[in-house]
This record gives sequence, C-alpha cells and structure tokens, in this order.
Amino acid sequence: MRTDLLHRRAGGQRTTVVSRPTALVDLAALRANARTITRLTGTPLLAVVKADGYGHGAVALARAALAGGASALGVTSVTEAVALRRAGIDVPVLSWLNAPATDFRPALHARVDLAVPSLDHLEAIRAAVRRTGVTATIHLHVDIGMSRDGAGQDSWGRLCTEARTAEEAREVVVHGLMGHLGCADRPGHPTTTRDLDRFDRATRVAHAAGLRPTVRHLGGTPAALTDPRARLDLCRVGAGLVGIDPARTGAPLRPALTLLAPVVAVREARAGQRVGYGDAHVLPRATRLALLPVGYADGIPRIASGRASVLLHGRRCPVVGLVSMDQVVVDVGALPVVAGDTAVVLGPGAGGEPTTHEWARWAGTIEHEIVTGIGPRVDRRHVEEDH
Ligand SMILES: *Cc1c(COP(=O)(O)O)cnc(C)c1O
Repeated sequence: MRTDLLHRRAGGQRTTVVSRPTALVDLAALRANARTITRLTGTPLLAVVKADGYGHGAVALARAALAGGASALGVTSVTEAVALRRAGIDVPVLSWLNAPATDFRPALHARVDLAVPSLDHLEAIRAAVRRTGVTATIHLHVDIGMSRDGAGQDSWGRLCTEARTAEEAREVVVHGLMGHLGCADRPGHPTTTRDLDRFDRATRVAHAAGLRPTVRHLGGTPAALTDPRARLDLCRVGAGLVGIDPARTGAPLRPALTLLAPVVAVREARAGQRVGYGDAHVLPRATRLALLPVGYADGIPRIASGRASVLLHGRRCPVVGLVSMDQVVVDVGALPVVAGDTAVVLGPGAGGEPTTHEWARWAGTIEHEIVTGIGPRVDRRHVEEDH
C-alpha cells in the first residue's frame, strides 16, 4: 500500500480516500493470477498486456506477470512493444497487429518479434531488415476460422514458401506459428475442434515448405483454461491475468482493479425533481443526491443508466438519471454521505461493491470492455493489497 493513500472508516468499512477518480491496481492479485494460470495449464505463459494491460497499466501488468511465471509478453502494435522495451523489460515481446505500412525498423532495433499475417507484411519486414541489418524473428499467423487477423487458407501456402525464402536469405527466422480460437469460451463447442484441425493442416503446410518453427500457439484465456488441446507450446493469456474468467471455469483468479471516485457534492432533492439530461429520471420522493466526477469518458457505460449502483458507506446506492460524459448522480437516501467521501464504483466485490462482471451485465457487454474502457483521466495507482 502506498503511503500517500489515506484510509478512513466509513460505515464500518475501511475505504481508501481519494480526491480524484482513481483506479487501484492490486499487483499481488496480478502476480497470483499469473501463478495460477501457469499452474493450471502447465504450459509456458505469454502474458498479453495490450490495451495498456487491459486498463491495468501495461508495464505494471507485464512486470507482475513475469514475477508470477510468465516468460514472454504479447501486444498488438509495435508502439506498445517498443514502450515495454523503453521501460527496461528484456524478455521476448511479440507484436501481432500492425498495418503493412508500419515502420518496422524501431521494432527490429528493439528486438521485438513480429507476427506476419500476409505477404505485404512479410515484404515490409524484409525491407526493414535490409535497411537495419537486424534479422527479424517472426511468427506466421494463420486465420483458422475467425475471418479476422491472420492469413486466409488461400494465401497461407504462399506465405510459408516466401517466409522460407526469406529465412534462406537470413532475413528472418520463423520462430512460431500462431492462430486464434473464436469459440473457446464455450467448452466442447465443435467449432473449436474444426479450428484445431485447420491449425494442424496449416502446420503441415508450413513443414512442407521447409519451415521448422519452435513454438505453436493458439487462443487466449478461455482456450488456456478449458482446452488442453489448445495449449500447445505457449498460452497467450491476457484476460485471466486481470482476473477475468470468460468461460466461468471457477479458476481461482482474483480481480485486480478497484475504481474509486470522490463525492464532489451532496444535495437535498425534492420529489418531482429531474436528474441529469432529459427527463429520463424524475425523483419519486425527496432524497439526497451525491455527485461523482466520473462518466462515460471515464468508462462508466451510459447504457448502464437506470441499472447501475455504487458502494457508499458500505451500502449500494443507485446511479440515477443518465450517465453524463463526466459525471454521475447517485441516490444516497438517508446515508450520512458528505462531500469528500469516497465511492467504490467497481471492485473485486468483497466489500459489497459492484464487480466488473456486474457492470458488464448492466451494460450488456463483457468484462474486457469494462476494464479496457476506463479512461485516461482516471489516475492509476499500483498497490500491493486488496481493498
Ligand atoms: C487479446 C489476444 C489474446 C489474449 O486473449 P484473452 O482472452 O484476453 O486472454 C490472445 N491472442 C490474441 C491474438 C489476442 O488478440
């Protein structure tokens, strides 16, 4: 716990007091999750820290995952990968989603491994290799059913032979083959079996082209936790590191994020008074309203208006009226809430606060969107214990 955070007893609860919207990130939980995942999978772990570490801070998540047993890191863009290097992180980093027009030279200088989903990407990387004199370590990426990133079945054979040519020219080393599973959150789904077969076929094509990749890897958290067939040589896990278990396997993962907001003002309100934009909410009775300086720009989903609640003084208080860009209004009733109190907007749930899962349900989305949606105005503080 950092010493610049104050604690105050409110309604019998120990609450961290904040003067601005703050996301507390529990590093011990992140480390424990990495340990749990490596124990459950028995497979080397590539920790996915894209999207600023799923909103938890990319460097902090990377360090915690490495301390918990991860051996490599993964991100989408080379910009994210180079930022990890700048922070002094030295383990293998794989970047898998870049436009072919990307300048790959900084990635090569930073020894970032690159996923290659097309001939255009291969050509761009070869050009960067010739200009820098640095050999590229690459993972060929095949689309095995999501019609998203990765080479389609029709271009895969050609990509493999061209990659072999580049390898013979000592421009690249084809270190890995990768694919992604789209239905692994539904264990036993026949689509996964079909996708795994496609990956095996793509592997045979790569071998026939003369490639000898060292690692093959597939899928994310749900694949790693539910399907031993999908683990292969490396599990690419992001969501699980931050405590999200999309397939609801019951794995003992700990949510690591607590979102706090200070009460900016409290007002007495009469029956019939409107709250927020429009006339979406008219107070049915007199009450007291607390104002929190967090809104949809900070990741509070507007669509959760009318359903969401937050924790104040240990009690759930409903968010009333529409969520604004910068603020929400909470009906605190008779609770002795005053300006300067701290609301727990989201957290692991141990103190009765709403969880990420609950927010996702209120917003009709998945937990990933809630944690990655927490905006840049929210202060991130990395701490060592739960709250
Ligand atoms: C985001 C991502 C992952 C991690 O998925 P989680 O389900 O969050 O663990 C793995 N692989 C690829 C290609 C990804 O884009």
